[in-house]
Amino acid sequence: MADYRELWKSLNIDLEKHDQLCAVLPEFFGDIYLSQENRPEGMNYYNFVVSEIHGYRIKELAEYREKGGKVFGSFCVFVPDEVVLAGDAVVVGLCGGSDFWVPDGEKVLPRNMCPLIKASVGAKVGGTCPYFQSVDMLVGETTCDGKKKAWEILEEYTPMHVMDLPQMKREKDKLHWMDEIKIFKEQVEGLTGNTITKEKLEEGIKLINQKRKVLQRLYNTRKAENLPISGKDALLITQIAFYDDPNRFIEKTTELCEELEARIEREERVFKEGTKRILVTGTPMAIPNWKMHHLIETSGGAVVCEETCTGTRYFENLVDENKNTIEEQMRALADRYLGINCACFTPNEGRIDDIIRLYKEYKAEGVIYYSLPFCHTYALEYKKVKEALEKEGIPVMMIESDYSLQDAGQIKTRLEAFFEMLETSKEAAVTK
Ligand code: SF4
Ligand code: SF4
Repeated sequence: MADYRELWKSLNIDLEKHDQLCAVLPEFFGDIYLSQENRPEGMNYYNFVVSEIHGYRIKELAEYREKGGKVFGSFCVFVPDEVVLAGDAVVVGLCGGSDFWVPDGEKVLPRNMCPLIKASVGAKVGGTCPYFQSVDMLVGETTCDGKKKAWEILEEYTPMHVMDLPQMKREKDKLHWMDEIKIFKEQVEGLTGNTITKEKLEEGIKLINQKRKVLQRLYNTRKAENLPISGKDALLITQIAFYDDPNRFIEKTTELCEELEARIEREERVFKEGTKRILVTGTPMAIPNWKMHHLIETSGGAVVCEETCTGTRYFENLVDENKNTIEEQMRALADRYLGINCACFTPNEGRIDDIIRLYKEYKAEGVIYYSLPFCHTYALEYKKVKEALEKEGIPVMMIESDYSLQDAGQIKTRLEAFFEMLETSKEAAVTK
C-alpha cells in the first residue's frame, strides 16, 4: 500500500493503533484468500481493493469532499442508496467485521452484544477506521434493539440520522417506510444543498439496479455444477460492493462474470468433485469476516450462495424504473426495500420461502445457519427455519460464532461431521 499517513492524520486516525490493524490484515488475507488454487484472473481487482483497503478509496473520498461533496455511511441494506446518489453524494457501507474493533466497542457498550455492533461502534470510538472518519453523516435504522440503542451512543461522536424501519409489512407499514424515505431525502438535500429531482432519482435507481444486476449475474454462475469461483471470493466481491465506486464496481464485476461464464463453458472448476454444496443463511458477514466461509471451504464444503445481507438480500429484486413522479418513485423504493426478509420483521415467512427457493436454485446439499452471538432475531428464527427445512428434507446445522478464531477447531470438527452425514445420506439414497 502507498503511504497514506498524511491523509490518515488529516482524518484524525489514531495512527499507532491503526498501524497494528494494517500489520495483521495482509497476512490474514494472504492465508485465507491468496492460498486458494485456480482463482479467476478477475479476482486481481478485488485483491487490489483489499491491499488498498484504507488507502485508495479513502483518497477518492477525501478528494471528493475537498470539492464540497458529501459522504454518507450506512449500516444496513434497508438504507436506500439511490436517494444518496440522487443528491450527488456518495454512500459507503460501514458494518464492522473485525475482532480488532470489538474491545473499543466494549468500552462504551455492554459486552453481551452482537460483535457486529460492538465492532462498528468500536471502529468510530477508537478512531481506527478511515471510512468512519470520512463520512459527513451516518445513517442508522431501527432494525434490532442493539443497533437502535447503539445509535444513541454513536450520535455523541458524529452526526447521525436514524430511519424508523417498521417491524411488520402491512400496507400501513409500507406507507410509513415511504414517509421515512421522504424524510431521508430531505436530510440528503439539507446536507448536500442539492435538490433531488425525479430525473436525478431515476439515475440513482438505474445505477443501483445495474449494480444489483451484475451481482445477480455473478451469483448465477454459482448455480453451475462446476463452480467457477469459490464462495469466499464471491463473498469478498459482495462485501466490496458496499463501499466501492459503483460504476467501477459494475465494470470490474462484469469483466469477472465474462471470465466465469467462459470457465463454465470449459467446465473448469475450483473445487474437486464431491465437495458439498452449501447454502449459508443468517446474519451479515461484514468485511473482513471471512471466518465461516473459510472454515466451510477447508473442511470439504463449498459455499454456493448466501441468504444474508452480504448476499442475496443485498441485490435480489430491482426497483421499478418506470415511474413518472417522485411520489411514485418513493413508493417503488418502499416496495423494493420492504421486500427484504430480515429477521427483525414479524412474521417473516418470506425468509423461509427464500431459503428453500435458493437451496433448490443453487443445487445446494445442505444449509449452514450462521448467527453472530447475541443476535436474538436470527437465533430465535432458527426454530421456524429448521422445522420448515426438515419438512422439505433439507439438512441444516446452526453455528453461532463471533469474530475470534478460538472456536475454529471445534467448528471445523462439526462441519466435517455434517458433510460426512450429507455424503452418507446421499449414498443411502442412491442404494435405495
Ligand atoms: S440483518 Fe437485518 S438489520 Fe442487519 S444489515 Fe441485514 S437487514 Fe439490516
Ligand atoms: S447481526 Fe443481529 S444483533 Fe447484530 S446488528 Fe444484525 S440484527 Fe442486530
